[in-house]
Amino acid sequence: MDASNPTAEQLQTRTANCPTHGDFESKAIPLPTFSNKPGKVIWSRCPACSRETAEREAAAERAEQEQARQQRIEDRMNRAAIPKRFRDRSFESYIADTDAQRHALGVAREFAENFPEHARRGSTRVFAGNVGTGKGHLAMSVAKHVMEQGHSVFFATAREIVLMLRARWDDRTAPGELEVLRMLTSVSLLVIDEIGVQFNTDAERDQLFGVIDGRYRDLMPTILTTNLNRKLLLGAIGERSYSRLREEGNWVPFDWEDFRGKKKESK
Ligand SMILES: [Zn+2]
Repeated sequence: MDASNPTAEQLQTRTANCPTHGDFESKAIPLPTFSNKPGKVIWSRCPACSRETAEREAAAERAEQEQARQQRIEDRMNRAAIPKRFRDRSFESYIADTDAQRHALGVAREFAENFPEHARRGSTRVFAGNVGTGKGHLAMSVAKHVMEQGHSVFFATAREIVLMLRARWDDRTAPGELEVLRMLTSVSLLVIDEIGVQFNTDAERDQLFGVIDGRYRDLMPTILTTNLNRKLLLGAIGERSYSRLREEGNWVPFDWEDFRGKKKESK
């Protein structure tokens, strides 16, 4: 074959080299021409590279859509999730007169201020004590602080969480259990307020376990408040959930009397 006289076939393809994928057959793609003379051509890129680029772009687009979807859910939750009774609560408005109260305040503040570190470790805190001891006040103070730092936060009572998870049972247009579970396990900080004795059925206990366990496994930080002691909490939420929460450092006792009630009496 005479190299100085290439055939039409040889003009249309040539061997090119991709630094990543090696030799490939590059095709001549004629550019549009407005005369009868043969026009210029461009040579096709490495097909493996083209495919990888297309796959990367498709994956990026999917990730972006997924993120936007998650964001819409979280925005809705964030807007809905600050109970009115807690809107004005802050660390500054929490009255700490005793060592135990100062300890609780300190734990809550530390958690909020070092949230990025707690997010990495998936820390959990259980604020446990009687009604009226300010557990919800401090939990909300943490939630607000963390939200102000730009993290997504969801704050709901245990009862509300169970109702959200089973909303589809009553309303076919409500988000499905998996979608709610996904939101609850992916939000940066979840506060489950007022865990009490409301879990009457194993199904409800299982649903709460799904949330607690999902966050535990993914190292997502969670704050829980309860008016139960350890033994009653174990009975209420079951062994599996309790085993995720029982680590010693997690437990923050609020073991003083209802200071709101006490103040009223002393007046
Ligand atoms: Zn290539």
